[in-house]
Amino acid sequence: KPHIYLEFQINQFGDDDRLIVAKDVTRLHQLEQMRRDFIGNVSHEMRTPLTVISGYLETMVDHGEELPAKWRRAVQTMATQSSRMEALITDLILLSMIETGEHSADQESIDVKAMIGQIGNDARALSGDKNHHIDISVAGQPLLKGDHKQLRSAFSNLVFNAVKYTPPGGRITVTWRSDRDGAHLSVKDTGIGIDSTHIPRLTERFYRADPSRHQDTGGTGLGLAIVKHVLINHDGHLEINSRVGEGSEFTCHFPKGRVIEGVPEQTAR
Ligand code: ADP
Repeated sequence: KPHIYLEFQINQFGDDDRLIVAKDVTRLHQLEQMRRDFIGNVSHEMRTPLTVISGYLETMVDHGEELPAKWRRAVQTMATQSSRMEALITDLILLSMIETGEHSADQESIDVKAMIGQIGNDARALSGDKNHHIDISVAGQPLLKGDHKQLRSAFSNLVFNAVKYTPPGGRITVTWRSDRDGAHLSVKDTGIGIDSTHIPRLTERFYRADPSRHQDTGGTGLGLAIVKHVLINHDGHLEINSRVGEGSEFTCHFPKGRVIEGVPEQTAR
């Protein structure tokens, strides 16, 4: 059955009079749906040829010594750029899947401690010789109800951003805590920070605070859009606090009903 979408605007005049305006936004929703489907389909179609190209380029890089010297750099650059494009396409497919809510029904019980611990290890590997201090702290044994793939992607985007935008030797603190309102995952860094004028727009697709200073970080510009939509799918929201030159804190808030304190299945026996 086709849905009809209406948007209401309520204007109050004095104490008693109200004007209610209803606007039919069905067409807008349909266009939005078409846009998402189109991006999803195009990304899927591009993935296969790109995988083939990347595969051959990787092989050529692996056998670099057999290449004529004048082509080595070109081949290396093509390999780097094609893996960037692969990352972009992976993120586009994920984002269009998340936006259409295709997987939002997946309700698993996720062992938060294990998931964040794993992301912490990946972050240490990514940090490499930039030697960040990475502290992870998860209170209790929380189980989060939701989609494993989506949540993992959201949390790792935040933690990897902290690594990307923090100069060598900086500190990255990842904390999970629960209270009366729900559960909160905070990812805090002592990095470059973000000017307050950019903060409201950061979760838009491809929005970057300052494109010139990010050329070497190799992101896709889709990370925070993914985080935002994953949180919406899990009844949560993202809070961003930052100061230029001091650092940033990204906090994911989840309502109470999403989290239970428990013993993870593997260790329950
Ligand atoms: P990108 O792939 O560019 O990192 P994101 O959507 O993940 O894309 O982030 C959008 C922009 O937000 C980044 O380009 C950067 O300007 C800013 N940003 C995100 N995380 C941080 C952070 N921890 N510190 C400073 N700036 C950040």
